[in-house]
Amino acid sequence: MQYRNMGRTGLQLSVLSFGSWVTFHKQIQDNTADKLMGMAYDAGVNFFDNAEGYAMGESEKMMGRILKLKNWERSSIVVSSKVFFGWRNNHKPNQAGLSRKHIFEACHEALERLQLDYLDLFFCHRPDPTVPIDEVVWTMHNLILQGKILYWGTSMWSGAEIMEAHRVAQQYNLIGPVVEQPQYNMFERYKIEMDYTPVYKNVGLGTTIWSPLGSGFLSGKYLDGIPENSRMTVRAMDWLKARWLQPEKLDKLRKLMQFADQLGVSMPALAVAWTIKNPNVSTAILGASREEQLTENLKALDVLPMLTPEVMEEIEKILQNKPTMDLS
Ligand code: NDP
Repeated sequence: MQYRNMGRTGLQLSVLSFGSWVTFHKQIQDNTADKLMGMAYDAGVNFFDNAEGYAMGESEKMMGRILKLKNWERSSIVVSSKVFFGWRNNHKPNQAGLSRKHIFEACHEALERLQLDYLDLFFCHRPDPTVPIDEVVWTMHNLILQGKILYWGTSMWSGAEIMEAHRVAQQYNLIGPVVEQPQYNMFERYKIEMDYTPVYKNVGLGTTIWSPLGSGFLSGKYLDGIPENSRMTVRAMDWLKARWLQPEKLDKLRKLMQFADQLGVSMPALAVAWTIKNPNVSTAILGASREEQLTENLKALDVLPMLTPEVMEEIEKILQNKPTMDLS
């Protein structure tokens, strides 16, 4: 395993990490989750990602049970949660969003579900335009001072929104957001490769990127239809079909798979390796519903040194989607 500092912070994250979205509680139960987390940890993964909204809190409870059983040294792992979506079916006022009340309560509820004394990372899962940014920054700063969280970050915020949080943090001498969790993969590049560029430079932002395989699409499993028991068959995940099963994406993926074949590597390993080739990615969070998937995806570490400038150029020729500055 390789480790990278999370942006300008002193925290070291394994460049491949492990998350529980969709899988924990919905697709897999404790026994498989236990095996997957064990495999990840044994391979050197130190970061485990979660959120209040995953399986309505059940994902955090499952991870909490497994962490308790594993009894790994607390200092050897980094655990996150995220606040915004809430975890109940029908939210009453203040049970979701980024008010001081919900951030404070969500943090304590996550700690209870995960059976932990503190969270290493706490993310604002989405921006909340109904809450003044000062309220968010003050609340996160105070949670750090109270020892409830160690670092805070954002997820799917724009570069401008992150910089606004830093402006407030500077104004009041508070701790600003040091990490962002955006989607990043071969077909979703704008935020990481363009929007955050000044933020890396100005505040040393770290990133924990999600869906390195585009929810499994980049493994190639959807080329000839939708396999049984795959994510696109999970209840309420149909929106993934419209996002991913588009003729242009399928066409490029076929070409990428031929290229992976020529290199002698698997498509999922190539796609994951491509994300961590970007030095602004601190860690790529892997998702898996089966052990074989995790074994395959961890091979990205072996593919990484094969991604020479020439190889990256060949991939670019297939993708033809590198974000560029709009100077019009
Ligand atoms: P991926 O894009 O890697 O998708 C993972 C899914 O793809 C697996 O659950 C599995 O689904 C399928 N898959 C994985 N490997 C293979 C393989 N080798 N062959 C075939 N199928 C494979 O990542 P996720 O979308 O799961 O995102 C990773 C993590 O990022 C999440 O767990 C979560 O922690 C975080 N996240 C954060 C978000 C945010 O808003 N901050 C949003 C989304 C995710 P299946 O077997 O069911 O087909």
